[in-house]
Amino acid sequence: MSQFLPEAIQAFLPNTIQLVYLVATGFFIVGIRRLGSPATARSGNQLASFGMLMGVAVTLFDREIISFEFIIAGVVIGALIGAIAAKKVKMTAMPEMVAVFNGFGGGASALVAWGEFTRLDPTLFETQALVTTGLSILIGSITFTGSFIAFGKLKGFIPGGRIALPGQNYINLLLTAVALGLVGWFTVDPEYQLVFWSLFGLALLIGVLTVLPIGGADMPVVISLLNSYSGLAASMAGFVLGNNLLIISGALVGAAGLILTNIMCQAMNRTLLNVLFGSFGGGDDGGSEELGDKSIQQTFADDVAIQCSYAKKVVIVPGYGLAVAQAQHTLKEVANLLEEKGVDVKYGIHPVAGRMPGHMNVLLAEADVPYDQLYDMDQINPEFKSTDVVLIIGANDVVNPAAKTSPGSPIYGMPILNVDEAKRTIVFKRSMSPGYAGIENGLFYNEKNQMFFGDAKKSLQSLAGAIKELD
Ligand code: NDP
Repeated sequence: MSQFLPEAIQAFLPNTIQLVYLVATGFFIVGIRRLGSPATARSGNQLASFGMLMGVAVTLFDREIISFEFIIAGVVIGALIGAIAAKKVKMTAMPEMVAVFNGFGGGASALVAWGEFTRLDPTLFETQALVTTGLSILIGSITFTGSFIAFGKLKGFIPGGRIALPGQNYINLLLTAVALGLVGWFTVDPEYQLVFWSLFGLALLIGVLTVLPIGGADMPVVISLLNSYSGLAASMAGFVLGNNLLIISGALVGAAGLILTNIMCQAMNRTLLNVLFGSFGGGDDGGSEELGDKSIQQTFADDVAIQCSYAKKVVIVPGYGLAVAQAQHTLKEVANLLEEKGVDVKYGIHPVAGRMPGHMNVLLAEADVPYDQLYDMDQINPEFKSTDVVLIIGANDVVNPAAKTSPGSPIYGMPILNVDEAKRTIVFKRSMSPGYAGIENGLFYNEKNQMFFGDAKKSLQSLAGAIKELD
C-alpha cells in the first residue's frame, strides 16, 4: 500500500511503522495486565484487540503488497468465523475452541515459513533466517496436529485414555531429537528439499504422537502448553519475515501460555513432566477412597431454603456443573433473595474449578455477581469455620477430601476448598457420578453433608421459589 503514498511520506514510513509497532506492543502488554482481574478484563481484551488492529493495519503499509484480494477475502472469512464462534460456542466448549485457534495459529506460522522458503532463494538466507524457518516449521507443525488431536480428545472423537505404543515417550524423544537434527541439517544445506519436507512431515507426526498418549483429563493443560508453542512459532515466523511486532507478540503469547500452564499444573498439584509423560484422568478411579457402604443424606428445596434463610453466612462454591446447567443467573437470584434476608453471601472460587482458568469468574461476571463477593481459595478457606451453609453447585473435585487424605488418588496433593469445616454443606448435582478426575468423593457421605439431586438450574429455581414462599 506504501506505493500509493506521496514520496515525502514514504521516506518517514519505515520509522513510523516501527513506532506504531512499539505502541501496539504497549497495548498488548497493558491489555494482558488488565486480563488479570475480572473488573478490568473486558477493557484489557479491547485494548489488546485494538493493538492487534493497529499492527495489522500498519503492516499493510510495511509490505509491498501487490494484490489485496486474498487479504480482503481472508479478513472477511476470518472475521465471520470469529464472530460466529464468539456468539455460538458455549463457555463449556471454550477449551476446544482455543485448541482449534492454537492449531490454526501454529499452522499459519509453519505456512509463513514454507511460503518464504518457496518464494525466495533459501541459499541467500542468513543463518538466523534459516534456523528460524526450520524452527517455525517444527514448532508450528507440532502445534497444528497436536492441537487437533487435543480437540478430538475433548470432543470425544478420539478416545480420552492413553493411546500409546510401549516406550512411546522414548520414541517421541527420539523423533524430537531427529527433528532438531533436521533443523540443523536444513540450516547448513537449505537447497536439499528432501530435508525440508522430511522436517515438515516429521513435525506433523510428532504433534500427533506426543498428544495421543496424554489422558483426556489433562487436555486443558496441554492446550495451554500448545498455546505457548503457537506463540513461539509465531515469534519464529516474525524472525523469518523480519517483523518486530510478530516477534514480540509471539514471545508474549509464548510466555503467557507457559505461565498459565505452570499455574494450572500447580493448582492441580502436578508437574508438567507428569502431565506430558504420566497418565492421569480418562475415568480411572484408582486410588479413590474406600467408602464402603456409607450412606448419603438427601435434601429438597424447602429444607435448603429454611437452612439458608436462617443462616448468618452462606458460601457458594461453583463448579463445572454450574456452567453446564447455565445456572449462573438463577444462582444470582438465589443470592439476592438471601441477601435481602440479611444473610452474608460469598463465593469461594477454586483456581481450577470448571474447565479453564477463570471459568467461574467469567460465568459469575456474566450474571453481574459483584467482584468483591468473589473470594479465591486462600481467602475463603479460613472463612469456612464460621460458615453456616456451603452451597456446592456442580463442583466435585475441588471439594474432594481425597486430595488431602488419599495418597494414591490422582488428585492427592491438590489444594482444595475446605468446605467440610463449615457447619453444613449441600451439594447440588444430578447423580453420584464422579467429576473430572473420575474418582469418588467422600464429602458426599460426610454426616454434615446433604445432597440436592437434579440439574443445577432447576434445583436453584425451585430453591428460589421456596425462599420466596418463606416470606
Ligand atoms: P468436576 O468436573 O469435578 O465436577 C463437576 C460436577 O458437576 C460433576 O460431578 C457433575 O455431577 C456435576 N454436573 C454436571 N452437569 C451438571 C448439571 N447440569 N447440574 C448439576 N450438576 C452438574 O468440577 P469441578 O469444577 O469441581 O472441578 C474441575 C475439575 O477440572 C478438576 O478436576 C480440575 O483439575 C479439572 N481441570 C480444570 C481446569 C481449569 O483450568 N479449570 C483445567 C484442567 C482440568 P453429575 O453428573 O452427577 O451432575
